[in-house]
Amino acid sequence: MALQLVLFGRQGAGKGTQSALLAKHYGAVHVSTGDMLREAVAEGTEFGRQAKQYMDSGALLPDEIMLGIITDRLAQPDVRAGGILLDGFPRTVPQAEGLLGITTLNVAVNIEVPRDVVLERLSSRRVCLNCGAIYSLDEPPTNPWTCDVCGGEVVQRDDDTAEAIGKRLAAYERDTVPAIERFGELGLLETVDGLGRPDEVAVRIVAAVDAHVARRPGS
Ligand code: ADP
Repeated sequence: MALQLVLFGRQGAGKGTQSALLAKHYGAVHVSTGDMLREAVAEGTEFGRQAKQYMDSGALLPDEIMLGIITDRLAQPDVRAGGILLDGFPRTVPQAEGLLGITTLNVAVNIEVPRDVVLERLSSRRVCLNCGAIYSLDEPPTNPWTCDVCGGEVVQRDDDTAEAIGKRLAAYERDTVPAIERFGELGLLETVDGLGRPDEVAVRIVAAVDAHVARRPGS
């Protein structure tokens, strides 16, 4: 069966960067709830307008809405055929329970990066408005600030302000850490050191995932 993987990690731990590398490696579809919501915002729908209010303030959207979005996405043919790398979902215990009720996951990976390091990374993070590719002040695109991948405009995210970052990190400790612990109790969790170059972290994740799947093929 196609790989079904969840990536956990604080804001700025590298979930988006690693998802892109892992999607290529495993041939699975990268599904980022943050990217999906930012697309809805860019499309200017009524839902996008409401989502933007939550996002800009650093608050989470309601669990039922997010679970509905993921339920629909899991049913689509690309995910059914290729598998999924979930980035940004689940983020609360009810989301975790909901997900476990609708699909069989192989493994969850927690990318561990200390709070002081992510704070530094987030303040220098820049993203492509069009495709979501991630850059930083230290590693800008070749032509600042035009995306190397798609030519889109590369900017700072509206919610990468000091206030919203603080709120998102607090929500992570309060709401997401218990969800991670739930996966640990179920024997589905691998924790990986997220410090170092992205390619080094990717090697660690692949090793942890492959070892986990070899041990527990159908979990
Ligand atoms: P970050 O991990 O840096 O907070 P994301 O791109 O994953 O960034 O998410 C951005 C925002 O989108 C979140 O702050 C929240 O408002 C909303 N969001 C994304 N995923 C979820 C989710 N699973 N549940 C609730 N809200 C979500």
